[in-house]
Amino acid sequence: MTPNITETERQMIIHMAAGATPEQTLRVVERIQRDYGLRCDTIVSETTVIGVKGIASVVDEDRISELPGVDRVIRITEKFKDASRSFHHEDTVIEVGGVRIGGGNLTVFGGPCAIETESQALDSARMSLEAGVDVLRAFVDKSRTSPYDYRGLELGRGLEIAAAMKADTGLPIVSELIDLRHLDAFLKAGVDIIQVGARSAQYSPLLEELSRLEVPVVLKHGFGNDMSEWLCSAAYIMSGLDREGRSVGHGNQNVILCYRGIKSFESATRFGADISMIPLVRSKSHLPLLADPSHSSGDSKLVERVAYGFIAAGAQGFEFDIHSNPAEALCDGKQAVGREAGRIISNSRAIHAMLAGVGIETGASVAVAAK
Ligand code: PEP
Ligand code: MN
Repeated sequence: MTPNITETERQMIIHMAAGATPEQTLRVVERIQRDYGLRCDTIVSETTVIGVKGIASVVDEDRISELPGVDRVIRITEKFKDASRSFHHEDTVIEVGGVRIGGGNLTVFGGPCAIETESQALDSARMSLEAGVDVLRAFVDKSRTSPYDYRGLELGRGLEIAAAMKADTGLPIVSELIDLRHLDAFLKAGVDIIQVGARSAQYSPLLEELSRLEVPVVLKHGFGNDMSEWLCSAAYIMSGLDREGRSVGHGNQNVILCYRGIKSFESATRFGADISMIPLVRSKSHLPLLADPSHSSGDSKLVERVAYGFIAAGAQGFEFDIHSNPAEALCDGKQAVGREAGRIISNSRAIHAMLAGVGIETGASVAVAAK
């Protein structure tokens, strides 16, 4: 019989006391497995935190509290445990092809909004490399608002060009996955990071499929979602739970958040990007947080200042549109920058270093300050 549970009862974390031994931790984990059939994740930093996977409403809180080494048992009210800083205190850092994302790193993702032709893609890729991006956008499929807009090349051809962009620049590539049936082809073509776009941010079949892999995922913020809904989408990718709340795998812990603004009444900017979301999300989640000054502002003239603002607020990098010829772009040319990308990236790195230099760290202390 399925227990009658509320969402908040599902999630439990156990804080071990400061002097708890690894054996005591193991005993708690074994006890939960043996008595309740639930698996646990253990995070060891200054102290040890055990996260119970699955429907933790069956766990007897008092019995677990009494076990040696246990400091306290907490039923967390947030619905996004795996993405939450209350479970995982330290910043998560993800490494892809030598590039580090999260923690005190500033990581820049850039490149054309869409692959249009081989020469446009390679020219834009080279311009992005010269500008100093760490991860190259190589977008094959485009989810467009109108079916009459440019939606990308035929899959095979698009992926060939994406692979050529990677080979030519030596940079890791990120590409948006819209259609689950394209996943294998993306991975075979060497896509290093899968992006879940704003329009797909709550599409659970896609999130569940990505939870079975280890490939890093950039999760955009759905433009009709609040913060908790966004972090719940991240938890979908991370939790490794099936519909009954049973642990069926480890989940994919390599999630990178990317804030891009929401629908607002203001139409002079493309989307409403609320800068206070940056320190807030850093305080609520341990996941790397990027922001997208191109899709939020929608205007290349605004991108530079918005990028600097995101970094000052604590973003650990940004993703932006760079095009070799924005005036001729088939997709989002108005918000794409050209050669000025290099200046934007080098100034961003200077701002990031300056903040650290004056003691305003961009790492975990931003998160702590915002708590
Ligand atoms: C993009 O990054 O190309 C994109 C379409 O962004 P979003 O999903 O945030 O609209
Ligand atoms: Mn775009």
